[in-house]
Amino acid sequence: MGRRGSAAAWWRQAESSRRRQSPSCFRFHSDCRARGKGFLSSARQQMMMMMIIIIGILSLTVSVASEMTSSPSGNGSKPFPWNKMRLPKHVFPVHYDLLIHPNLTTLTFTGLAKIEIIVNQETSSVIMHNKHLQILKATIEGRMGTIQTVRGMMVLEHLSFEQIALLAAEPLHVGQNYTVNIEYSANLSESFHGFYKSTYRTKEGDMRVLASTQFEPTFARAAFPCFDEPAFKAQFSIKIRRELNQLALSNMPLVKSVNITDWLIEDHFDISVKMSTYLVAFIVSDFKSISKMTTRGVKVSVYTVPDKINQADYALDAAVKLLDFYEDYFSIPYPLPKQDLAAIPDFQSGAMENWGLTTYRESALLYDPEKSTASAKLWITMIIAHELAHQWFGNLVTMEWWNDLWLNEGFAKFMEYVSVSITHPDLKVEDYFLDKCFDAMEVDALNSSHPISTPVEDPAQIQEMFDDVSYEKGACILNMLREYLNPDVFKAGLVKYLTEFSYQNTKNEDLWNSMNTNTNICPTGDTQGSQQHNDGFCTRSQETSSSSHWTRSETFDVKTIMNTWTLQKGFPLITVTVKGKNVHLQQEHYMKGSESSTTGYLWHVPLTYITSKSDITQRFLLRTKADVLILPEEVEWIKFNVGMNGYYIVHYEDDGWDALIRLLKENHTAIGSNDRANLINNVFQLVSVKKLSIAKALDLSLYLQHESQIMPVFQGMNELIPMYKLMEKRDMDDVENQLKGYIVNLFKNLIDKQSWNDEGSLSERMLRSSLLVFACVRKYQPCVDKAEEYFTKWKESNGTFRLPNDVKFAVYAVGAQTVKGWDFLFSKYELPAFNTEKNLIEAALAISRNKEKLQWLMDQGLLGDTIKTQDLPHIIVYIGKNPSGYQLAWKFLKENWHKFVQKFELGSRSLAHMVMGVTNQYSTRTQLAEVKEFFSSLEERSSQLRFVQQAVETIEENIRWMDINFEKIKMWLQTNSNM
Ligand SMILES: [Zn+2]
Repeated sequence: MGRRGSAAAWWRQAESSRRRQSPSCFRFHSDCRARGKGFLSSARQQMMMMMIIIIGILSLTVSVASEMTSSPSGNGSKPFPWNKMRLPKHVFPVHYDLLIHPNLTTLTFTGLAKIEIIVNQETSSVIMHNKHLQILKATIEGRMGTIQTVRGMMVLEHLSFEQIALLAAEPLHVGQNYTVNIEYSANLSESFHGFYKSTYRTKEGDMRVLASTQFEPTFARAAFPCFDEPAFKAQFSIKIRRELNQLALSNMPLVKSVNITDWLIEDHFDISVKMSTYLVAFIVSDFKSISKMTTRGVKVSVYTVPDKINQADYALDAAVKLLDFYEDYFSIPYPLPKQDLAAIPDFQSGAMENWGLTTYRESALLYDPEKSTASAKLWITMIIAHELAHQWFGNLVTMEWWNDLWLNEGFAKFMEYVSVSITHPDLKVEDYFLDKCFDAMEVDALNSSHPISTPVEDPAQIQEMFDDVSYEKGACILNMLREYLNPDVFKAGLVKYLTEFSYQNTKNEDLWNSMNTNTNICPTGDTQGSQQHNDGFCTRSQETSSSSHWTRSETFDVKTIMNTWTLQKGFPLITVTVKGKNVHLQQEHYMKGSESSTTGYLWHVPLTYITSKSDITQRFLLRTKADVLILPEEVEWIKFNVGMNGYYIVHYEDDGWDALIRLLKENHTAIGSNDRANLINNVFQLVSVKKLSIAKALDLSLYLQHESQIMPVFQGMNELIPMYKLMEKRDMDDVENQLKGYIVNLFKNLIDKQSWNDEGSLSERMLRSSLLVFACVRKYQPCVDKAEEYFTKWKESNGTFRLPNDVKFAVYAVGAQTVKGWDFLFSKYELPAFNTEKNLIEAALAISRNKEKLQWLMDQGLLGDTIKTQDLPHIIVYIGKNPSGYQLAWKFLKENWHKFVQKFELGSRSLAHMVMGVTNQYSTRTQLAEVKEFFSSLEERSSQLRFVQQAVETIEENIRWMDINFEKIKMWLQTNSNM
């Protein structure tokens, strides 16, 4: 699944939290970890058993060849025959024949599921998943003795486990195939999961309804009864009944359409490949499409509501290029004859990788070359790359269970960069990769983080796995491994893994085993002179006393190295002390809120470094707690984690930081821009664990007045802006304003240099957009004047004056500061001409200082008519960051909590995003107590979610941080604010 990104990069820069939880165009949100083991206490288990409800007694049986057999009819007293949340492995599905008939007027659907099963272990019950489906009739077909029969089955339901048990009159025999037939009906869902209703208005203002699916992770069971775990792969034959003027889509191409009545048609789709239930998809709509063929003849189509079909071209071209790329890169042909990409008007996350029918939020797929921003282009390209990568990573080879979700998501995230850097070199996507790692480290530095591979069981825990650790950290450690092995060896390992496990399920170790057998060449060269020998092994040319250098027996044990990254939470802090030619290295667990590491974790860290004497990347594998590396000569400075390809942070002891700060001030381009961004990040991280003073970090930030590259500028803003965001929520106006002044001054030259147009490379455009929003929102007068001038022109032309796309947000943000301006901007929100700008307008409206307007926005978002509820989480977070709105947002969140849970599902990123986004700039004990009190008042399932722990831990950290640093910031500003 691709996660929801915000409209543009500017927002993160403009309003990012101190603890960096806000969205950006490169990152698609955060949350976290699994509940403790004691979740199902025995008392609780008993309670659940009592909740078992018998919903149907089906004794109606049909005799095909022999006697009538009535099912063992109970009357409420039969116990549910299974007591675990995971399904038994007594029977396996082989093939599903589904007939689905939605009625878009009554908003209901009926279904008939014929599921062919094979029996592994004798049993008289078939346990399956079912959620909110009303079972009308269930029968089983198969050989009983020598005769083919059809018999009724009794149905029991276990509501809290989302399971049904179909009871057979006689035991089902091992090795035999049976077909279970289930007739059912249900309402189309009002949420964003299962088979759900979506609506949109045409240009003429008519309301249209469509129905679409979102099954990952556990919602296929809400559309048809099924074995809804990823390892129960089967084939699917899907038939959809629809009206004449409707269009039906599913994973496979249409093979025929049958007229059922004058107004009803039954579309039959081809039999699918073997796949998991969460990848099934179908849509009934009035969409239009455009199509193209890939080089190998796969038909690619983009589907949208008819009025937006002219925004589909960019996505179509990108998808064709990317599909061609992946077929080539993975050396495995895409196995389906078609790939449809559909933009759904209501969509919770960013996109979903359903095999052959990927679905997207409209803003994640539709691109208007005239009106879309530069960051929209980047985000659309990356999300298509993500979903298409899943057609191999996830769809073809699937994780055995959700604990290893990262095998899907970490890879898809990582492949976004690998593919787009080749297919769309002009986007320079690789420059932004380190941003992923900063994001992941933000949550991974908390005690509430979790290992990449973490046990999960219930649907809320599974939902919580869709977090920065599975996505971003997963991608970062894969990138680190690729750097360590070298790209060709890494790729060979991936191809082996995908080929070996096609149509199957895998665990973590399967991946490492595939990599291990492929590493018969040397990893990218190390400093100690490893060489490849004729036997294919690498050995070192010299003996050293250190145990960290690569040796023949240990070098290539990818599994041992990678287990330290996937089975332990967090990441290492490497402390570097240079003494002459000796570089002393030490590792410890970096964790916020603790000054010394107590976990005893040890990582195998592929270190890289450059020095004042050599800009050639040197390598060193640190596998012990401490080690020494010997340089050929003494150096003035040493910089580790080159290009930030590693997932660790570095502290330079003694005068190590001073030497680097001096370098940045005197000649910052001596090291790459990602290295600079990396130093900015690390220096502030070290303040949090008291390794450095805030004064030292601020000293480093002074060099930014000479910086012009996007990533160091963004990172500087990401570290500095959140500091005054904390102050904004307390009465600290003096220091707050001084700090704002300092930051504006720091970037003043760069801001002044910006032209107010759309010229330049993608990164120049994104930088411009962020800088101007920042300057205007911070009331830098030249910016405000210019924006006001533009807004007036635009308003006087009644919205027809063409604003440059990349400055639009700054203009809207300034315009929305007056009531008249706000109302005018809102009057454009619903117009078709502004549909690509909706997210920009929402964000600008949410910056208003007018509390009534802010409240009204949230209320409308909840109603979901004018402002779609899919956009509400973001609106709430914007308002939560607004100094005039943060209290409103928190109140709104609390008051509507139960509605949000219903709409977005417990454990979902949308909930996590709202909670973290609204609370992560709190830094007082009163605010902490309020947050704790609210969550402890909720039922256990809500109060134990990982994002609740994260929110609490973040506020605690903010309190600690402010206690230590506030006075020091004040003092530092007094001496340095007139730099
Ligand atoms: Zn994904």
